[in-house]
Amino acid sequence: MNPTAPPLAHEQISINALKVVQRLTEAGYEAYLVGGSVRDLILGRLPKDFDITTDAHPEDVYELFRNSRMIGRRFRIVHVRFGREIVEVATFRAARGEEDPLTDSGMILQDNIYGTFEEDAIRRDFSINAVYYSPTEEKLIDLVGGLDDIKARRIRLIGDPESRYREDPVRMLRAIRFKTKLDFEIDPASAAPMHQLGYLLQDIPPARLFEEILKLFMSGHGEASFDSLLSHELFGWLFPDSRRAMDESPHAEPLIRAALASTDRRIEQDLPVTPAFIYAALLWYPFVIEKRRLEAEGASHIEANHEAAANIIAKQQLFTTIPRRFSGPMRDIWMLQFRLPNRQGKKPGLVFAHKRFRAAYDFLLLREEAGEELDGLGKWWTTYQEENPAPERRSTHAEEPGEGGKTPSKRPRRRRRRNRRPVES
Ligand code: ATP
Ligand code: MG
Repeated sequence: MNPTAPPLAHEQISINALKVVQRLTEAGYEAYLVGGSVRDLILGRLPKDFDITTDAHPEDVYELFRNSRMIGRRFRIVHVRFGREIVEVATFRAARGEEDPLTDSGMILQDNIYGTFEEDAIRRDFSINAVYYSPTEEKLIDLVGGLDDIKARRIRLIGDPESRYREDPVRMLRAIRFKTKLDFEIDPASAAPMHQLGYLLQDIPPARLFEEILKLFMSGHGEASFDSLLSHELFGWLFPDSRRAMDESPHAEPLIRAALASTDRRIEQDLPVTPAFIYAALLWYPFVIEKRRLEAEGASHIEANHEAAANIIAKQQLFTTIPRRFSGPMRDIWMLQFRLPNRQGKKPGLVFAHKRFRAAYDFLLLREEAGEELDGLGKWWTTYQEENPAPERRSTHAEEPGEGGKTPSKRPRRRRRRNRRPVES
């Protein structure tokens, strides 16, 4: 090892992030890389993006960079744009309750939100996310034991775990996300309070939870994330109907698992994926159970279908939003399940020509994989497709090109509080 080599290889760092740090330093400010990028570089992984933290206030950063934009209200951060790359620059923050600076849109800007370097370090969630790197001085700064934890592949909250989860319950989901993404273990003391604190997720805006769900289920580790959500007893607080259906139908859990595993494989193969498909699987049995209930009350098949879909989607929206661009395709996938069994006359041709036939067919195969006995229907459709030329339509999961697999963008969100019923114990 070259003793003079910097602890992190600068070739791996975005040239634009280095430029931002350099310009800030030249202007007399402190500036560091921090968070996921430093953690990933230490682990030899390619960082997704580069976050910079500084003692310069947002207005100062904005002044320094012509290609920049201030975002957020209570806690403003600056996005410095270089073509397609955005380098995010945040001012050192003091400890605060909830993380997301964009949600409390109505709040007055307070003076005490900016903090010192030390305060910035301890308000971060996990020690592995609180290692700083100064490219100008070529040194790592670690006030919270993050380097040891990265080495030990351990996810540990900074400070008292229970109070840190109470401050921001999404940290429980983040712990699971980093565990599966990095293949780390959650430190026992950080894991212990989780199963008792799941109910706190009810206070999180459904839009924020939807974004976390996407990161958990659509980043190539969906099945592992599902397992972890179950073992920490958090799943039922995100998907209460799905959790209940798992107790009522032997196929519910295998179907969710199969959909997540298939999504993981598609991501691995760089194939497009959409949350519509995963949501269709998560809520299929709740939908079927609700439909049966409505039919037992005298609703016709058609009425029950539509009402059950509407009810189940509306209920789920109280916990995690499902944007319309996903709930539409999801409903199509469900409705087509009732048309796929028609093997007579012209009916198969019509279903085959439906723009969501591929997704519906894939879903049918998953239902069979999950143990539903469907009288060889999947096989029948496989043969049908081999024997018939494909009609013109768009491909399986590609309804929303580029929507699903990507990490959702950080756009302003408004906080809304709704009354939510407590879910299972
Ligand atoms: P990824 O590689 O997935 O982007 P990341 O660690 O960069 O992981 P981000 O969500 O981009 O995660 O957040 C950037 C940094 O901000 C984190 O590393 C952490 O230091 C801090 N942070 C983010 N969310 C929270 C939170 N809820 N509570 C405390 N600190 C947080
Ligand atoms: Mg990040």
